[in-house]
Parts: sequence; structure tokens; C-alpha cells
Amino acid sequence: MKSQKISDKVNTKKARAWIEINTENLEHNIEEIKRVLPDTTKLMAVVKANAYGHGDVLICKKLNQIGVYDFAVATLEEGIHLRQNHIMGDILVLGYTYPKNAGKLKKYDLIQTVFDERYANELNQQKKEIRVHIKIDTGMHRLGENCKAHKQIEEIFNYSHLDVKGMYTHLCVADSLEVEDVAYTKEQIKAFYDLVKYLKEKGYNTGKIHVQSSYGVLNYPNLQCDYARIGIAMYGVLSSNEDRINLKLDLKPVLSVKARIVMTKTIRKGEYVGYGRMFRAEKDMRIATVAIGYADGIDRSLSCGIGGAIVHGRKVAMIGRVCMDQLMLDITGVAKANQNDVITLLGEEGSLAIHAEDIAVSTNTITNELLSRLGNRLPRLCFHTE
Ligand SMILES: *Cc1c(COP(=O)(O)O)cnc(C)c1O
Repeated sequence: MKSQKISDKVNTKKARAWIEINTENLEHNIEEIKRVLPDTTKLMAVVKANAYGHGDVLICKKLNQIGVYDFAVATLEEGIHLRQNHIMGDILVLGYTYPKNAGKLKKYDLIQTVFDERYANELNQQKKEIRVHIKIDTGMHRLGENCKAHKQIEEIFNYSHLDVKGMYTHLCVADSLEVEDVAYTKEQIKAFYDLVKYLKEKGYNTGKIHVQSSYGVLNYPNLQCDYARIGIAMYGVLSSNEDRINLKLDLKPVLSVKARIVMTKTIRKGEYVGYGRMFRAEKDMRIATVAIGYADGIDRSLSCGIGGAIVHGRKVAMIGRVCMDQLMLDITGVAKANQNDVITLLGEEGSLAIHAEDIAVSTNTITNELLSRLGNRLPRLCFHTE
């Protein structure tokens, strides 16, 4: 049997609730994704939103250790945070940065996305010699210069204070295998490569090109790109278990959520539990109050039995409403459960597991949202087996 070890300074004997990060699983997922990428395609680790709730510095340090030196964040501040914690490599800012902050982009050696000619012009006017990737809109209609706007795109290449290091687009239905969606995606891909070809023929250096995010790789693995921008798959989950995908990868979830039972009590038939008296006992029962709530990212729509937890190797139901900092469980069937015991709200415990994909379905969302909204007050602990 492998023993399990928590290798961090945060003492789980004292914590009320926390997140455990299994870096072995992260490494496994990276290997697994690299296995299906063409040799010429590098993995760009998408670590925006605190690395999808996993803890950006913890995740990036591990990635640096295992040879990943390309990152994407959403904001300037996220990039600065990584640099201040000595993360090495290229960091691409995918979203908007106030142009007058060009000095900070430069100071922290960040690469900025320019998503249209007008924004590029504003950034160029700061005269800071910024490295940029040009974002191209091929049909998502979110960010990106229109792929047909050749004149504007060429203008971006010609700005003297912008050093174009790459060009990319984003697919909007790569997660669907419906015939019409596949056709749409193929048109997006074609529009992008047509543009690359046009620019190259005109003598422009398009730099590193990239198209796919996780589902782009899962469903269109053979594109010739310099990067694949991988978020959710690296964290070992799919956005939804309702998705059909072409490539089956062996992905292992990186994150678990644990919390402590801080009180147990016996309630009598007819008594109520929680706000709104939403739960009424139909028999005498034992309940546990657990020190985690919706402010920690445990969605309130898991109230009243929609959600559950693993307690001493048994799945039990949440009862009553999830509160901001606490929730209650029915532990009638778990005689061993006691004050101070640690329970699992997300992840594996023994032979049981609560999957992020299942919680996401219960709460009407995708795992990307579930994970990225896990609360900042939960400490992230590095966890590995030895
Ligand atoms: C968030 C994001 C990604 C990563 O998406 P996943 O589906 O999590 O892999 C890739 N590219 C862009 C532009 C993004 O905003």
C-alpha cells in the first residue's frame, strides 16, 4: 500500500476545511496530453482564475519542475502574481490589459494578447516594446480581429513597438460532435490557416500559432500548431460528463475538497434543520455540522439532498440549506462519525468518489465554473502518495 502524505506547512489537524492537490495526478495528466499532441506542439498550461481554483503558484511551481514553461492567464495581475512567485517561462495574458499598464507588461516580462487593431494601436502608443500574440476571430465573436480584416491585421504586424510573437484563435463548439458543429469548427480552423498562409506569403512572421483548448485537442488532435492551450483537461476532469469526445484520455482529478465535522447532534422526529426549516426529520436521527459553505464554493443549489459527502467510507446526504460557512449532513447510518472527523466533499475516499463532473451536472454548470469558484479562504495543500 502506498502511504499518503501531506507535504505542506498548513496543519490539517487545525484547518476547518481545505483543498488537497495531487501533483502526481497533475504530472500524469500532462504526460497523457503530451502523448496525443504532435511532437511539434507544446503544451501551454492555462492557469487563469487561480489555476481553475487549484492554486496558481502551487500548480505552476510543479509545472516548472516537470518542464512546462509556457503559461496563459486571464489578467495582468495574475501574470504579475506568478512572476512575483518566481515562475519561469512565457506567460501570455489572454484578456484585456489597460494600455497604460504596458510598463507593467514589460517589467514582468508578460506577453499581451492584442484582440483588434484599435487596441493594438493604443498599446503601441505607449512605446514600451511589448511582446504580443494577435487574437483572431474566426466565428466565436468574443475577442479577436476579424479573420477577413487583412488590412487591420497587417497593420498590427507593422506597429513598431509591438513585437508579434504569435497568433491564435479560439474554437466555440469544439466540445460538440454534432455534424453541424463539426462543420462550423472546421470552417473556423480553415479560416485561421488561410489567414496564416496569406500573411506568410506577404512576408509576415506569424510566430507561434495556436488554436485548440482542451476540447480542441480531444476532438481535433492532429492540427499543426505550435501550442495547445490546455486548461480543464490538465486538471484531470472534463467540462461535463455529458460530452462525447473522440479521444479517450486517462485523466486523473488533481483536486479534492475536505472539511471537518465540528459538531454532531441527535435530533428528534419532527425537528427541523437549517435556514427556512427546509428539512424536517421523519425519524430520530444523527446529524453533523461541517465547517464549509457556499462562500467556499459549495454551491447553495446542492442544498436539501442534492449534494452529498463521503463520511467514513459512506456516502451521506446534505440536509437543509447550505449556509455561507457551514452545512449539515445526515450521519444517522454512520455510527463512527464524530466531532473533528474529516469528510470528503469532492474527490476520492477509499473506494468511493464524488466527481466534479457529477456536481457540475447537479448544479447546472460545467466543472470549469465549479472549480474556478472554489473559495480563496480554503488553503491549498500539496498532497502526493509515496
Ligand atoms: C480558458 C481558455 C482556454 C482553456 O480552456 P479549457 O477548455 O479549460 O482547456 C484556452 N484558450 C482560451 C482563449 C481560454 O480563454
